[in-house]
Amino acid sequence: MMDVAALTALARPEIRALEPYASARAAGPPPAGAVLLNANELPWPPAPGSELNRYPAPQPVTIRRRLAEIYGAGEDSLLLTRGSDEGIDLLVRVFCTAYRDRVAICPPCFGMYEIAARIQGAGVERLPLVSSHDAALAGIDRPGLAASGARLIFLCSPNNPTGAVIPRAEILALAAALAGRALVVVDEAYIEFARAPSLVADLAAVPNLVVLRTLSKAWGLAGARLGALIARPEVVALAARIIAPYPISRPAADSVCAALTPAGVRRMQRNVIRIRRERARLHEALGRLPAVEAVFPSEANFLLIQCRAGKRLAAAARQAGILLREQSAQTGLADCVRITIGTKRENDRLLAFLEGRQ
Ligand SMILES: *Cc1c(COP(=O)(O)O)cnc(C)c1O
Repeated sequence: MMDVAALTALARPEIRALEPYASARAAGPPPAGAVLLNANELPWPPAPGSELNRYPAPQPVTIRRRLAEIYGAGEDSLLLTRGSDEGIDLLVRVFCTAYRDRVAICPPCFGMYEIAARIQGAGVERLPLVSSHDAALAGIDRPGLAASGARLIFLCSPNNPTGAVIPRAEILALAAALAGRALVVVDEAYIEFARAPSLVADLAAVPNLVVLRTLSKAWGLAGARLGALIARPEVVALAARIIAPYPISRPAADSVCAALTPAGVRRMQRNVIRIRRERARLHEALGRLPAVEAVFPSEANFLLIQCRAGKRLAAAARQAGILLREQSAQTGLADCVRITIGTKRENDRLLAFLEGRQ
């Protein structure tokens, strides 16, 4: 297909020409009973019953299949990564030639897009989010982004740190405007907490769309480091060319497998409901406090507040044993502080602390 060929042509020529490293397990799992003398592993495990002496599968097939099912994607449309942070890094390294190509970001947003771009030597176009009469910092500067000349546009929805969802129609219109010229990357780290649907369902119709998902937030698996880059198979294949050999460790794969059972899905859904309930309660309670000047509406598992002196508030909270994330360095967020939704007791502790401040 013409549009997919144009997409592949956006990749760096040296990545397209690269003969990827073929690891000992690249051809698939070894046949049962095979004598494994091809990977320079030690033949003995470190403890009885352990298989840690053996390299893991480069892309554990059960996890890939299960996540494809959960996200509603094709299996060959999904690359397992060490958190979505790795997905961001792979995209920048595949598509941006140092000192020539650029990415575009919409601040205030997640910091890793800019850092990954700078590490790669890519330029960074900043096109700040815009507010409308009914939503603060929820809109993208679509004409600006379409004209930016960037290879990759990073959008975060729900956005970290504001919590706002970028309207799906805006993202699709942007992708259509950039067809064949750039990839629109939608970071959906918090989508499980939102009412809005994931854009994974739009991948079939929109070749230059990439969606990043992660198990670090709603699934409660931040310690396992597992995310997914979901895109057209051609884009996934390009990212797969440069990912480290065996990125998913055996212990990580085992714990993720155990968490993705039907019971695990139900647990995740229950936790999402609890977080949403606490989010609504905390939003209400924060809005009534004199120390808080504004609370941003959030579709994620955090709330952004504006206060009189954000840095001072965050420092005082730390003294009181409560860690918050101060956001003053972000475009347009002077005196803003991001608060993760905790348990009811944790949130009550935060409220008690804030009530004591006038
Ligand atoms: C937390 C977060 C990530 C990082 O997720 P990992 O999968 O843990 O690497 C990515 N994007 C956004 C917007 C985040 O807030």
